[in-house]
Amino acid sequence: MSARVLSGKELAASIRAEAAERAAALAADGRPPKLAVVVATADESSAWYVRSIARAAEKAGIACDIVDLGAEAAPGLIRDTLTALSADDEVHGIILQTPLPQGAKLEDLAGAIAFEKDVDGANPLSLGRLAAGLPAFAPATAEAVVAILDHHEVDLTGLHVAVVGRSTVVGKPAAHLLLDRNATVTVCHSRTRELPAVTSVADVVVAAVGRAGLITAEHVRAGAVVVDVGTNPTEDGGLVGDVDAVAVADKAGALTPVPGGVGPVTTALLLRHTVNAAVNATGNASVQATGRG
Ligand code: NAP
Repeated sequence: MSARVLSGKELAASIRAEAAERAAALAADGRPPKLAVVVATADESSAWYVRSIARAAEKAGIACDIVDLGAEAAPGLIRDTLTALSADDEVHGIILQTPLPQGAKLEDLAGAIAFEKDVDGANPLSLGRLAAGLPAFAPATAEAVVAILDHHEVDLTGLHVAVVGRSTVVGKPAAHLLLDRNATVTVCHSRTRELPAVTSVADVVVAAVGRAGLITAEHVRAGAVVVDVGTNPTEDGGLVGDVDAVAVADKAGALTPVPGGVGPVTTALLLRHTVNAAVNATGNASVQATGRG
């Protein structure tokens, strides 16, 4: 068997096009949407990711300020910057990029991002509201997992989904969003005993770990759907996921590629969230945000 490829490219392109159209309408109304990305790291893959967000935003007509505080930035400076951006009427979306300097924790600092500008769902308030089924911006990567399955018409109702990874950025919010779709969700992590025994009974496996090739054919039931969230840089400058794609493609029914799967959908959703935040700031209910965000 060779797994169906669940590409994210077409979905991402349509989300970007929709965001661009709505951004143009806002700009024509004198309210151009603007995203601010706060960076406090010298990490190369992070810099690559931030540049790709900025490029995509620019193409969609969304202004994007990269606020680089340097890898030595003190938590207080990061918090003050987030507070200032939260109070700036011209900024509609704020992302705090990870990793953060030693001693700085995303969960502690993200509370300084105004809830209505929290386009990557980092403020604990957003995660709490998400868990309670209330409107909030979901972390874009977690939302991308569900969006890509929706796009490829995987009906999650009643399916058993094993999420590998329990970070507040991906694993936990993805579990909430999957529960909202009436999936039965098992969340696995580094202390899970006999991981292959747990994941290989699932209909869908979501890998969000950050370890190249962790998920092998042994972890996957024949015909299962596999979503690979992992982005692990390779020595030759490429990118691989958490799934051993060659081995798993022979056994799974469907698999998201890396690159070209969850990644582009994540970036596109950040743009959609920023436009939604800008629309929400206008108070124009006729073009209010759709869905959770
Ligand atoms: P993270 O915060 O480091 O969390 C990793 C999770 O994996 C933790 O819950 C950890 O368990 C678990 N884990 C580690 N080793 C394991 C093992 N051997 N078996 C089972 N579970 C294990 O990472 P993250 O921020 O969630 O990111 C996960 C991956 O997604 C990374 O590759 C990241 O680059 C990628 N990512 C991609 C996008 C995108 O747009 N495509 C966006 C964000 C992140 P414990 O909790 O027990 O430590």
